[in-house]
Amino acid sequence: MCRGVKEIEIPPRPTIKKLQGAAADCRACHLWKIGTQTVFGEGKQTSTVMFIGEQPGDKEDLAGKPFVGPAGALLDKALAEAGIDRTAVYVTNAVKHFKWEPRGKRRIHKKPNAAEITACRPWLQAEIDVVKPRAIICLGSTAAQAVIGPRFRVSVQRAQFVGSPLAPFVTATVHPSSILRAPTDEARHEEMRRFVEDLKTIWKAISSRKIHR
Ligand code: SF4
Repeated sequence: MCRGVKEIEIPPRPTIKKLQGAAADCRACHLWKIGTQTVFGEGKQTSTVMFIGEQPGDKEDLAGKPFVGPAGALLDKALAEAGIDRTAVYVTNAVKHFKWEPRGKRRIHKKPNAAEITACRPWLQAEIDVVKPRAIICLGSTAAQAVIGPRFRVSVQRAQFVGSPLAPFVTATVHPSSILRAPTDEARHEEMRRFVEDLKTIWKAISSRKIHR
């Protein structure tokens, strides 16, 4: 293990609150040095659905909360359109610190690498173990490949369920930030429509199928 890096210790009998507290001091990879703070997952411990994104963005880093920036607003809108109550879902990220590089005065998002995703994995696993969601929905390819596996392709397998020991229903769709990056209004509307459609399909499957855990 590198100098300045400290192994993650999951607190005994963890709850989301305990995990949030413990993760605040995490030094298990170098990202704690560039992020303002740990941005842990948020939501009820009894949530049925867990959304997993890639990492916090600029706004999330400053607020210390996941999905509160423009991508979060778009997720809220899509959930509302799909008839899913945001307060009934748990939202988190594969990596809990904002990785960025400077461009002028701006902080530009930089994709986390495999080592950083692996280093942060115990927190994500602990969240899954505590919440025990009925469904895990990965947002974007980084989360999908971290949670489902490197061969999962969001572009061709979006909203398809895969067998996983993590939850009865595990799938992925696009990250809302990719919708924001669509080149035209028309493309953005189409991407949003497909995203909402994915959420409706997933929600319908989760709600209709009986799974005994
Ligand atoms: S990114 Fe994850 S593993 Fe790295 S310091 Fe932050 S919380 Fe710890």
